[in-house]
Amino acid sequence: MTVRTRIAPSPTGDPHVGTAYIALFNLAFAKAHQGQFILRIEDTDRERSTSQSEDSILDALRWLGLSWDEGPDVGGPFGPYRQSERGSIYADHANQLVDAGHAFHCFCTPDILDGMRAEQAAAGLSPKYDGRCQHLDPQEVAQRSAAGDRSVIRLMVPADGESVIVDRLRGEIRIPWSQVDMQVLMKSDGMPTYHLANVVDDHLMAITHVIRGEEWIPSAPKHQLLYRYFGWDMPELCHLPLLRNPDQSKLSKRKNPTSVLFYRDQGYLPEAMLNYLGRMGWSMPDEQERFTLDEMIASFEIDRVSLGGPIFDIEKLNWLNGEWLRHGLSEQEALRRLMAWGFGQSFFESAWPHLKTRIATFGDAEQWLRPLWVGEPDYDAIALHSHGLEPDVVVEGLQYLVWRLDSERQWSRESVMDAVQFVCQQLQLKMKEWMPVMFIALSGSTQAISAFDLAVLLGPDRTRARLRLALERLGGVSKKAQKRLEKSYQAACSAQ
Ligand code: GLU
Repeated sequence: MTVRTRIAPSPTGDPHVGTAYIALFNLAFAKAHQGQFILRIEDTDRERSTSQSEDSILDALRWLGLSWDEGPDVGGPFGPYRQSERGSIYADHANQLVDAGHAFHCFCTPDILDGMRAEQAAAGLSPKYDGRCQHLDPQEVAQRSAAGDRSVIRLMVPADGESVIVDRLRGEIRIPWSQVDMQVLMKSDGMPTYHLANVVDDHLMAITHVIRGEEWIPSAPKHQLLYRYFGWDMPELCHLPLLRNPDQSKLSKRKNPTSVLFYRDQGYLPEAMLNYLGRMGWSMPDEQERFTLDEMIASFEIDRVSLGGPIFDIEKLNWLNGEWLRHGLSEQEALRRLMAWGFGQSFFESAWPHLKTRIATFGDAEQWLRPLWVGEPDYDAIALHSHGLEPDVVVEGLQYLVWRLDSERQWSRESVMDAVQFVCQQLQLKMKEWMPVMFIALSGSTQAISAFDLAVLLGPDRTRARLRLALERLGGVSKKAQKRLEKSYQAACSAQ
């Protein structure tokens, strides 16, 4: 048997460090067994998937030095590797399940489902589809479909007993069928859900080991049913522990930048980043701290992954990056990287238009370029507060701006300006009242190149991280305030 593993990201946002971590372990496992590693794009959520996000995921993985044997960019014998290009495969498989009585058409409208959930909540039950369309007469189904009634296809789930899943790291996991929902497999728009598409593709792409984050454990019983109904062997499952913030909570961008591209733009070495991800729950047999991808592959044993939540700690990453700079690269190579990051032709080309009107000699350049080079701007809460705005307003504005820019897929001077305008409208502020906060948050100083230009030069990830840092320096937003702000933010967005 050839070992085949895969990473199957959904292109709906920034390339997450968690995706890179799972990709690394899949690659290491496959290569340690002389196998193959596949990249598949799971873009069945047409509203949230973007090609920009797909590109940035591929860029981020490549920057880290990961490569795949098959994928949407390199092709391969089991393509296409983008689920949006495999539509008819899923429809055929869903129909097979219906014909065999393993799945059923469900005509329940959103209103009916809301009512069902409300009744269940009132009775203290957890929400779940109650199966009312499960035994519709096939003739009635045909008539209603012919009359244009929209339906979804749901999975049949046994009424009694339990699902027994074997996880390579955890052993047996038992989940009673009564806790498993009759999952929608095909939506009424003809698109498959994650569950159907994922199982069908893992089978058709001959995946032998599914190595993914532990948040997918509750999906395993549904997948098990699908394999059983289709009469296919289930790949071996291995759920890796989720990355955590230093306070043990699930890794989130509120506490740590989570986009791989942030680390690239901030000047980390890809080797150090990959090495650090390789130490999430795993270590070299001799506890060696600095190692390359090839060294990791040569010693990789997945059974040595420890299940205690691995902590993603920037302080430790910084230490390891320093080790790599000093001992992992030749002097010449380290200098080459440094130049390429912030002292090369392209860096100065993009900065020059903003410099040339402001400097008399090159000796004046540093103060304008400093915000682009620093890891964290040197500011304190006092500076952020010293421009006549109430502290609450500054916090609220920064939080709105972070949210607004988080959902911004196009990054340009105009899009950042639109986001700032939106915030000003919400806070009933004039742009010029808000801009000092923006200047300080992005540069640490009120004397800087235009904040919009700076945001473009810094790029989306570093800009967002600085706004978050400013928020944090102001004491952050309490959970309660967060809820209130979120409500008014949502209302403001939908009123637009
Ligand atoms: N598309 C899923 C994700 O975004 C894949 C999960 C899996 O590996 O099964 O993580």
